[in-house]
Amino acid sequence: YGVKPEQVFVGVGSDDVLAMAFLTFFNSEKPVLFPDITYSFYDVWADLFRIPYQTMPLNDDFEICPEDYFAANHPNGGVIFPNPNAPTGLELELEAVERIVRENPDSVVIVDEAYVDFGGESCVPLIQQYDNLLVVQTYSKSRSMAGGRLGFALGSAGLIADLNKIKYSTNPY
Ligand SMILES: *Cc1c(COP(=O)(O)O)cnc(C)c1O
Repeated sequence: YGVKPEQVFVGVGSDDVLAMAFLTFFNSEKPVLFPDITYSFYDVWADLFRIPYQTMPLNDDFEICPEDYFAANHPNGGVIFPNPNAPTGLELELEAVERIVRENPDSVVIVDEAYVDFGGESCVPLIQQYDNLLVVQTYSKSRSMAGGRLGFALGSAGLIADLNKIKYSTNPY
């Protein structure tokens, strides 16, 4: 991926990475935004950790509307969406992903790329430019290692350091 070790966080599957990321970055009283049709675990973690959230409807073609996730339109405590989305399989173009990241300078934007290897374009290169972008990937889907429980996040060294602080303060082993 052309990243440095300090830009990588590894977890017990990406669900574990997502849990750590929710605990670390979604601490606002403003809602975290994600699509109304999406990966079914986001609201589970949010409910478990008592993180307020708001779901944004997909459009009539089942696509994510980037403007819905701009802080100016919907003040938020964070943004998360899969790209491609699940279970629709529809992808947001890189340019739209970048606009969402750029329009949220005060929030962390998590892009869950569990399905990107099946035909999407990864936004990993953008982490070099935006220190509020965290990209999550997994070995469970395209890499056929779901039982191995291996997931990881790529982001700025600052975000990764924060994730490690929370990880080791909740489970030092
Ligand atoms: C499968 C999946 C995950 C979690 O997979 P792990 O096995 O925990 O790595 C995360 N996000 C999406 C969108 C998925 O489909």
